[in-house]
Amino acid sequence: MIEPAIIKEKLDVYNIRKQFPFLSREVKGHPLVYFDNAATSQKPESVINALVEYYSSFNANIHRGIHTVAEEATAAYENSRDTVKNYINAPTREQIIFTSGTTEGINLVAQTWGRANLKKGDEILVSEMEHHSNIVPWYIISQEKGCTIKVVPITENGELDLNAYASLLNEKTKLVAITHASNALGTINPVNKISELAHKAGAVILIDGAQSTVHLDIDVQEIGCDFFVFSSHKVYGPTGVGVLYGKLNLLQEMPVYQGGGEMIKDVGFEKITYNDLPYKFEAGTPNIADVIAFKTALEFTTKTGKNLIRKHEEELLHYATNALEEIPGLKIIGKAKEKVSLISFVIENVHPQDIGILLDNKGVAVRTGHHCAQPLMDCYRIPGTTRASFAVYNTIDEIDVLVKALHKAIKMLS
Ligand code: PMP
Repeated sequence: MIEPAIIKEKLDVYNIRKQFPFLSREVKGHPLVYFDNAATSQKPESVINALVEYYSSFNANIHRGIHTVAEEATAAYENSRDTVKNYINAPTREQIIFTSGTTEGINLVAQTWGRANLKKGDEILVSEMEHHSNIVPWYIISQEKGCTIKVVPITENGELDLNAYASLLNEKTKLVAITHASNALGTINPVNKISELAHKAGAVILIDGAQSTVHLDIDVQEIGCDFFVFSSHKVYGPTGVGVLYGKLNLLQEMPVYQGGGEMIKDVGFEKITYNDLPYKFEAGTPNIADVIAFKTALEFTTKTGKNLIRKHEEELLHYATNALEEIPGLKIIGKAKEKVSLISFVIENVHPQDIGILLDNKGVAVRTGHHCAQPLMDCYRIPGTTRASFAVYNTIDEIDVLVKALHKAIKMLS
């Protein structure tokens, strides 16, 4: 029997690790230390089993067939939608659109809401810490419509400059697109306040939840945003699945995205009528298997206890921050008060890529480079950073391995 997470005070990380087969592998003769969780997380056995079970016992196309297996597959797929709805506290299941990931969710909003509502002279507000996925789709639609992209600056420690944000909002601002948590700095942005201010200015607000959903409790109604997007693969789920949540009236009014099967009610050569939400935005055969296993991933975090996960990750972040700060020449980029469990850093006179290679030789997987946030790197006048990002299964011992390997790498490179 699973003990309710709320009565436990501490995460049993060694028990958690047993649930992730991937973690037992070695790299270059060393036990793998996986610190690239912000890029993608590893999957628990329950998620892997959910994929195997779907393909071995109820693989069928959904919504169309009336045979038993098709009905089983449809029920499982639609069950996932209910789980997601509850996970982010969306008011209705119609507001949960399955996409291929965060990137597709943002492109969908830009190409449908954006195309229908933006016009010449309108302003779109993004921040200096956005991932390319939350810049490029807005750039594309701005080029088409003649809009201007305005950028909210960040402070030296990597927090959003809220005063600057407030003063950039005006009657021309039609859309605000801001990340909940930065993949390159770790900063958690005050999204409730950001949404409130956007609405006061009459703008629509999209929150990029790619980095926050795995670490924080998400309540889209409390945030008050109009759109919220995230990816399954960063929340211990499979790749190729994402979620777009939207306010009901906006989704209803938005024109369709891709055309094809499922998103229609009636098709003739003269006239086509489109399906209701959420199917209106889910053209063609969706990613059935991965959507079904995504539910299992969300259940894994709920069963483990998001409060315990957060506590554990905060401990890792605190320990790693102190340990890394003791390394001579190392500078942490992004020292916001509220952070998710990731640390970006640079080392004097050492290129991040060299660090990445030497750490890999010791079995430590980190991310190096610009983290798909080139404007942010320009802002700090650096080509890139080394990033260690922590998940539910990481340990203090692993951070010690990283620190020891870093000392050795720096010695070799200087
Ligand atoms: N936004 C942020 C903040 C991210 O970290 C990422 C992934 N690195 C994305 C968007 C894009 O997510 P995906 O590649 O899963 O679509």
